[in-house]
Amino acid sequence: MRFLAHRKQSQNGAVKKGQPMSVSDNIESISQEIKRMCDHVGVAEARPRLIAVSKVQPKERVVTALEAGHREFGENRVQEAEERWTDLKADYPDVRLSLIGSLQTNKAAKAVELFDEIQSVDRAKLARALAKEMDKQGKPLPVYLQVNTGAEEQKGGVLASELEALHQECLSLGLNVVGLMCIPPAGDDPSLHFALLKKFAKNLGLEKLSMGMSGDYALAAAMGATDIRVGTAIFGERDYR
Ligand SMILES: *Cc1c(COP(=O)(O)O)cnc(C)c1O
Repeated sequence: MRFLAHRKQSQNGAVKKGQPMSVSDNIESISQEIKRMCDHVGVAEARPRLIAVSKVQPKERVVTALEAGHREFGENRVQEAEERWTDLKADYPDVRLSLIGSLQTNKAAKAVELFDEIQSVDRAKLARALAKEMDKQGKPLPVYLQVNTGAEEQKGGVLASELEALHQECLSLGLNVVGLMCIPPAGDDPSLHFALLKKFAKNLGLEKLSMGMSGDYALAAAMGATDIRVGTAIFGERDYR
């Protein structure tokens, strides 16, 4: 299946804008670009994981990615993920699903059941609900704390000033906190937010940095991202109608 993928701010000269591309070509060229960027700046650690954000995308596009061998996917809503992935996970048992969107405590049980990691932990109440469910289901999933680095009112994520307390709370609950995640404010220079996230992670002794989306994944890779979450540049524009 082919469609137009809009590649915002891509540094990659090999892919011409507006040229029809397949999902698997997109994954390949983005992975190459990330690899080149890491090599270029000498990021020594393992390559970042490319999480294909499949929210709102038609199932055929997701299946194309699966058939091309991709196994890391991100979804931002529990119910949508459940509808899409219950069957697909049975067909592709080695898929890893990341929850990257805000989570209500009453959906914690479902989230722990369905996902392989939670990247959007941003408050103590949610941390408690997740810890309880992971205990109950015997599924101690890795979690990331989402940081609202731009202190935007409408956005999820813990404020920088409350991050340390939340981290402590998570540790005392026995949660396996592995890293931090952020979504920079639209219009801001993302590098400021990536740098902040990196500093916070270092202060807390956390290793994983989930940062970078379609418009800034190359920059994120250069700045040490370990997880890069790309939707549009892989699957094309989301159709919210
Ligand atoms: C939708 C979404 C993405 C992917 O955004 P694109 O710009 O389509 O790459 C990444 N992270 C989060 C948290 C998202 O909700």
